[in-house]
Amino acid sequence: MKKEKPDYFRKLLKKLIVELEGALDANKETTETVSLDDSIGRLSRADALHAQNIAMSLQGNIQIKLNLARQALEKISSGKYGVCVACNQPIAEARLEAMPETPLCVNCSR
Ligand SMILES: [Zn+2]
Repeated sequence: MKKEKPDYFRKLLKKLIVELEGALDANKETTETVSLDDSIGRLSRADALHAQNIAMSLQGNIQIKLNLARQALEKISSGKYGVCVACNQPIAEARLEAMPETPLCVNCSR
């Protein structure tokens, strides 16, 4: 990895973290405010629970990605960024550009 690359990916990751934190906040409302009384309009209780489940699993996905992005930032600081955690081979930069938070190379992610 070239000398200026870590800075570039650090910026990408910081931007991603801000976006994910925003998405978590926006999604929180859906997971927390499903009320089960009859004041939820035309949504039935089952529909409301279904919507809540979707929001919660989305929340989980965002949280996982956020954790990976934070770990990737730490790896940049320790100089270990861009190396696959499974096979220790470098991760292609095109892949890191698309998914800067990924800890796995394309082969190991399959
Ligand atoms: Zn690998």
